[in-house]
Amino acid sequence: MFKALAPRAARPPTLRSLSARPSKLFQTISPLLAGRISRGYATESEEKDLVIIGGGVAGYVAAIKAGQEGLKVACIEKRGALGGTCLNVGCIPSKSLLNNSHLYHQILHDTKNRGIDVGEVKLNLAQMMKAKDTSVSGLTKGVEFLFKKNNVEYIKGTGAFADEHTIKVNLVDGGETHVRGKNIFIATGSESTPFPGLEVDEKKVITSTGALALKEVPKKMAVIGGGIIGLEMASVWSRLGAEVTVVEFLGQIGGPGMDAEVAKQAQKLLTKQGLKFKLNTKVTAGDAGGEGVKLSLEAAKGGKEETLDSDIVLVAIGRRAYTSGLGLEAIGLETDDRGRLVIDQEYRTKLPHIRVIGDCTFGPMLAHKAEEEAYAAVEFLTKNYGHVNYNAIPSVMYTHPEVAWVGQNEQELKKEGINYKVGSFPFSANSRAKTNLDTDGMVKFLADAETDRILGVHIIGANAGEMIAEGTLALEYGASTEDVARTCHAHPTLAEAFKEAAMSTYSKAIHY
Ligand SMILES: Cc1cc2nc3c(=O)[nH]c(=O)nc-3n(C[C@H](O)[C@H](O)[C@H](O)COP(=O)(O)OP(=O)(O)OC[C@H]3O[C@@H](n4cnc5c(N)ncnc54)[C@H](O)[C@@H]3O)c2cc1C
Repeated sequence: MFKALAPRAARPPTLRSLSARPSKLFQTISPLLAGRISRGYATESEEKDLVIIGGGVAGYVAAIKAGQEGLKVACIEKRGALGGTCLNVGCIPSKSLLNNSHLYHQILHDTKNRGIDVGEVKLNLAQMMKAKDTSVSGLTKGVEFLFKKNNVEYIKGTGAFADEHTIKVNLVDGGETHVRGKNIFIATGSESTPFPGLEVDEKKVITSTGALALKEVPKKMAVIGGGIIGLEMASVWSRLGAEVTVVEFLGQIGGPGMDAEVAKQAQKLLTKQGLKFKLNTKVTAGDAGGEGVKLSLEAAKGGKEETLDSDIVLVAIGRRAYTSGLGLEAIGLETDDRGRLVIDQEYRTKLPHIRVIGDCTFGPMLAHKAEEEAYAAVEFLTKNYGHVNYNAIPSVMYTHPEVAWVGQNEQELKKEGINYKVGSFPFSANSRAKTNLDTDGMVKFLADAETDRILGVHIIGANAGEMIAEGTLALEYGASTEDVARTCHAHPTLAEAFKEAAMSTYSKAIHY
């Protein structure tokens, strides 16, 4: 029976116990194949076990997994390249620019005390963009290779429902085709949320996509939205020489998921690097009619008004589910008030052969969440079980220092009235951070006051994005801070700060 999805956070934390069941691949696939044989459509020879609309992380991972499971699968992608937002205009190009702009900034400002004398340092932006494009094309072609390896048919075009089992595809190279699927996954992703009154031209008023492809460093850049994407892009262009001001409606940067104490530290460090912040401030209007862009600002609670002039405005107020042009009305599928397709616990819509995964449905808009769902949705299809633990999905902001977290933050625990304890360890007391001359930040644990079970891990520091994997694993396995503290960590590593933070939560740290 179709049942609207309860908020994911309220779900039982894990279905791992189910995954111990033996594979029933053949029993479960055979009804699919039987269904295919019994139908009498004109395009019967084309009918697939699974058709996926969208070749982003959710779509391509599902396609590869389905191919591995022996399903006859096709993936439709309109972009002309696989990998979706993540590989083409998201995670990958942004991390390329973050990495190389950090290197540039460090060479400019942080070499002398390391005993490295450098000569004239010049930015070659075109080459930096080329390096980014090389990473992107290498990865998107890699996915194409994986499609071939796993017998996935790649259809380049825009898909829309003709009926409940048939997708009409307008091919990128012209013409159209129809592809029939016994099962269909919708994985059409998301798009930037527009700011009312400011029309995006990707030149003066840009989204993250424009921010990944600027041809020159703007003198002044305003960023509307101090969430992760806004701050990553703000960091890139500030390091390359722009004067960047971030306007944020909330009283903290990083979005509501970031622990408030960590967010405060992050803001302080980013301010030291040259970023300017206007918190508790809303943009009430924008005017891009002149040479630059003029933003009207007002205190979030009303009152004080001011204007902010810049050459370029980056709109980074979030992303929204993208399902436009899919022809959902042709099959009676509805979206919620935020445009997300409604699904049940097994990713099924009210038409059970149609499932939805990734950004276009509930949950955090993250590539690794999309990937987990893709894998689980194929397992639900072929084996009747699957596993995604929505309580253990890490978030990372790839600024310098990085900020990473998993589980709950202090403000959430307080709101829920949970009795918790806190322990932390600063990188300034960690031997590896000291030798690296990179000591900003800390590791912070939140654990149940009575049982010591880890409830959240929050890291700000040079290697936070890698280190959070250990916190995620600990959360997934229901570890206590004592479990982590009693686990041997290599010396000298930044990860020792992780161990010592756990020690300080259940007992005392040694080195601080
Ligand atoms: C600047 C930026 C940085 C980011 N950084 C990170 C990060 O560091 N880590 C992280 O985890 N996440 C990051 N994200 C988020 C991440 O990119 C998304 O969560 C992820 O791409 C979602 O995958 P998806 O497959 O659901 O959707 P998408 O990647 O958006 O893929 C959907 C695909 O469907 C295609 N499509 C849509 N409609 C149709 C149709 N009708 N027919 C055919 N094809 C169609 C689209 O062209 C698109 O390629 C970032 C996003 C941005 C914008």
